[in-house]
Amino acid sequence: MSDRLTPEARSAHMRLIRKVNTKPELVVRRVAHRLGYRFRLHRRDLPGTPDLVFPRLRKTILVHGCFWHQHPGCRLARLPKSRPEYWLPKLRRNKERDAAALEALENLGWQVLVLWECDVASEDAVADVVQSFLREA
Ligand SMILES: [Zn+2]
Repeated sequence: MSDRLTPEARSAHMRLIRKVNTKPELVVRRVAHRLGYRFRLHRRDLPGTPDLVFPRLRKTILVHGCFWHQHPGCRLARLPKSRPEYWLPKLRRNKERDAAALEALENLGWQVLVLWECDVASEDAVADVVQSFLREA
């Protein structure tokens, strides 16, 4: 993103990125639903407000956008060239929040599957991963 952008343009751009990033979650919801599982969305009473929650199985699935959650080694996670002083602390905080939420969930006895945006490109592949995660004890 360019330094020439006004703050208004920048936040419009960020809203757009956030919006686009909700799509992988919709794919995962559709897959879990098609497999016949019942789940709750965005439970605010759990650490990190997990995306999909399977209460009886005590399992959750987190669907991470590769940029916002900085998927290691992923091309979608590449940093914008400009304004590293803006992006680096922000993205570092995201990663710290993710790690804390994951640890807190596991300490509460939840099993957690993290799916990355780039993994969700193939719906069939996601279905296999989701199915084996939810099936295993
Ligand atoms: Zn990725």
